[in-house]
Amino acid sequence: MKDYILIDGSFGEGGGQIFRTALAYSAIVQKPVKIINIRAKRKNPGLRPQHLSALEALAVITKAKIRGGFIGSKEVYFEPQGIYGGKFTIDTKTAGSISLIIQAILPSLLFADKDSQVIIKGGTDVPFAPPIDTIKFVFIPLLWRLSADIKIEVKRRGHYPRGGGIVYLEVKPIKKPLKPIKLMEQGTIEKILGISHCVKLPKHVSERQVKSASEVLMQNGYENLEISIEWYPPEKDPHLGPGSGIVLWAKTNTNALLVGDELGKRGIPAETVGKNAAIELIKQIEGGGAVDVHNTDQLIPYMALADGISEISSSEISLHTLTAIYVAEKVLNARFNVEKGSEHKPSKITVKGIGYI
Ligand code: ATP
Repeated sequence: MKDYILIDGSFGEGGGQIFRTALAYSAIVQKPVKIINIRAKRKNPGLRPQHLSALEALAVITKAKIRGGFIGSKEVYFEPQGIYGGKFTIDTKTAGSISLIIQAILPSLLFADKDSQVIIKGGTDVPFAPPIDTIKFVFIPLLWRLSADIKIEVKRRGHYPRGGGIVYLEVKPIKKPLKPIKLMEQGTIEKILGISHCVKLPKHVSERQVKSASEVLMQNGYENLEISIEWYPPEKDPHLGPGSGIVLWAKTNTNALLVGDELGKRGIPAETVGKNAAIELIKQIEGGGAVDVHNTDQLIPYMALADGISEISSSEISLHTLTAIYVAEKVLNARFNVEKGSEHKPSKITVKGIGYI
């Protein structure tokens, strides 16, 4: 084994995210990592199938040497040997989150030797992971501002437990370091957009999600709403399903984007699903930041890699964000400053990115 960077997977949130981001950074800077205590803070510690899928995908992209790549493993050594773009398919074979596979592979594909066209199979709308609509309509558009050239197409949705979702991702390697991002002011809300979907379920499920979300938003003074319905008649519904969900995002006059979302669950009325998404969005708006809780943790790696000072105001700093910062500091030597906010006063995150190319 070469000299490696040691990452304690039990730090902070102590879940799958620290494992994925450690691998992603290791791939970019081409330094081996050893991750110990993997998912130590979860009820079922060690690698689960979706974490193994991320490891295997990155191993293909980087022709990495790995040790400890099996279900239940609590210790993984990963030694990348280059970053190779191209055409490939990643199949989680479960309802493993496609968004979290993207979280693992996207940073390194931006530094690959050539363009990549990737087909990812698994879950698009599954618990404890970003819904694919958030990735498509908010996260990737935020990355465009850093000059990343990324395209995404959702070919088919996949829900827990059957999966069957298919997403196509196209990434061009960057020619210059990523631009820093500055998103400090929330500004005023111009519009709230959204998508309410259901598959292998009657149309009224997605309609009721929209109705209840709209009622809550309007009661709170948000009038300019554009929430579309995605539904498939039974003879044209290709999904394994059943499944449903709603993603809402607010656009402001300062170009801020904030998200609230909720997944449908068996036994939970569609009205509750819509209402919860609206309540979450309002919570993020009232947090006063220009970035919501989940996009904050997901932007950290890109802020660390960009060239120059990035600064964002965040409506909520989660343990995931502090964990992402820990890994970025440890592997990339980027130094973050976090100024914790208080109620209605957003937190501020600043970093001088390392300008990696
Ligand atoms: P586990 O929790 O089982 O270890 P995991 O791999 O899902 O598995 P986490 O460490 O919890 O690991 O990471 C989940 C990631 O998904 C985080 O980046 C978090 O911000 C993101 N996320 C979770 N729920 C949402 C949501 N509703 N919207 C957007 N992002 C989400």
